[in-house]
Amino acid sequence: MRKQEFHLESAYHYDQSSPVRWIFSHIWHYKPFLLSFVCGLMLSNGLNAAIPRLTGEAFNVVLGGEAGANGRLLTIAFTILAGVMLRAIGDAGGQFSMEVIAKRLERDARDELYLNLLGKSQTFHNQQRVGDIMARANNDVRELNNMMMPGAALLIDSMFGLVMPILFIGFLKPVLLLSPLLFVVAYYFALRRYMGQLNPVSHAMREAFGDMNAGLAEAVTGIEVVKTAAQEWQEVKKFAYNAGQYRDQFIKNGEVQARYLPPLLLGFALALALLHGLLLFAQGQIGTGDLVAYMGLMFLLRFPSFISIFTFSLVQLGLASAERILELMQQETEIGENAEGYNQPMRGEIRFENVTFGYGGTPILQAISFTASPGETVAIVGQTGSGKSTLTKLVNRTYDLSGEGENGRIFIDNIEVRDWQLDALRSQISAIEQDIVLFSRSVADNIAFGVGKDVERDLIVQAAQEAQAHDFITQFKDGYDTIVGERGTTLSGGQRQRLAIARALLTNPSILILDDATSAIDSATEDKIQTAINRVSAGRTTLMITHRLSQIRRADKILVLRQGKLIDQGSHQELLGRCELYQRIFGSRVKHSR
Ligand code: ATP
Ligand code: MG
Repeated sequence: MRKQEFHLESAYHYDQSSPVRWIFSHIWHYKPFLLSFVCGLMLSNGLNAAIPRLTGEAFNVVLGGEAGANGRLLTIAFTILAGVMLRAIGDAGGQFSMEVIAKRLERDARDELYLNLLGKSQTFHNQQRVGDIMARANNDVRELNNMMMPGAALLIDSMFGLVMPILFIGFLKPVLLLSPLLFVVAYYFALRRYMGQLNPVSHAMREAFGDMNAGLAEAVTGIEVVKTAAQEWQEVKKFAYNAGQYRDQFIKNGEVQARYLPPLLLGFALALALLHGLLLFAQGQIGTGDLVAYMGLMFLLRFPSFISIFTFSLVQLGLASAERILELMQQETEIGENAEGYNQPMRGEIRFENVTFGYGGTPILQAISFTASPGETVAIVGQTGSGKSTLTKLVNRTYDLSGEGENGRIFIDNIEVRDWQLDALRSQISAIEQDIVLFSRSVADNIAFGVGKDVERDLIVQAAQEAQAHDFITQFKDGYDTIVGERGTTLSGGQRQRLAIARALLTNPSILILDDATSAIDSATEDKIQTAINRVSAGRTTLMITHRLSQIRRADKILVLRQGKLIDQGSHQELLGRCELYQRIFGSRVKHSR
């Protein structure tokens, strides 16, 4: 089974080995509806073909001029009436069933994709464009619905609509099959050619749409940069280009559709049928009624021959979409949830043993070894890009070490991080990231986010107070119910940070990771943030990346990183005494602050 960082137990397993199988495994789930769809269609098409047959019968009765003709005509009329009504019922039942299947397919596929995306690793998500994922999750999933309803529904309907009249023609007189069978053969080849031309265009159309969406999403999420750099015009051009690509594919799609042959072929078939019918009539082989029935049945072929222009392209688009969704879901991720792994309360001892790590290419961290005892605060210092943030991301397996130990090992409570159950590991480690992500929900919901269930307001307020966030929250118009802009855009950096601290306090983790980006702030806020940080790091193992000297001084241990190497570790005083780099970073500031 494919690795997932997270999954939900589900009773139903979908076959993801190919787009067609995948869709079948989805609709097979709803067998009763499938059955009633097929029955409904068979009923309605059978009755549909019976009507020309009965009409022909009526002609024979009228022309025959026998006694009791009126009674027989009345019977035929009522039979047709009953047939039409029954046909409506069959139609409605069939359509309803397919509608249900289509909507459920869309819903199930959406659920499946969403769960799958949640289970993918950070490395996977780093490589994806959000807009493209959104296009697949929204539009491609919607195409699945369209593919079934009206796509497949009409397609199957038209197949019955092809077979039933031909069957009735065969019963009428086998030799009359000549023209319809010739038509079927020509129709088959014309359709094959049509689908062959349509297939690449359908794919290209979906891809072009994904690209357009991804470009738009990027411009919208980066709107601040676009505006401050006055690059609107550039973005407009980019979008226009992408939209143009999409339009071109659309036009190509139209061109292929314009060259759709079956209606023309049917025209030939009808002419041939009339000629053939009249010939047989002239020879006295068939009666007037038969001729009327025959031509009536031939005209029924119009529906399947013109509707397939659009059913096949819907089905094809749906299959292209299914392929794109599967492609996303089937990408391997490297971290599994390890459900059977170690699952105990964490004491909070961290040990790195000779750890080397890179994001694929060159190593970013090299041969790092250190220990943090439970409750200790370890500060990490070093220049920008030296690998501080990267180091902390290895602790909760946001990224994993490659290889089986040859790149070192990371232990928490003497258990290698890979042997922990992923959920147990991550839920006991809180990280306050360098750029803090908040959701566009209320302040209270953002604070309670790490806990996941309903939290009493009192606890949220208490956490906010301890994080020094209560004061500014209550100044908002709606207080704790204020909705934060997406990604926290309506808050200042310092405010965001204190909300994140409140979030961490509420989660009450054994290990805290604090990647502190804010440095120069006014001294009042500085004091508040320090109080908050001291409060949140008390009593738990803390890995702290910070430039604040006061915080660093209080740390039990300081790691000094340079270009991914741990060049020294020790207390503030020790490092001031012996580490050149440390002196360079902090020596002058120490003098100033005296
Ligand atoms: P800063 O003080 O600026 O936050 P840092 O010490 O935290 O710097 P890291 O974020 O750990 O530095 O980055 C270390 C190196 O790893 C950088 O050279 C960076 O380009 C690279 N890097 C960081 N994140 C990724 C990623 N997701 N994929 C590839 N490379 C990355
Ligand atoms: Mg960093």
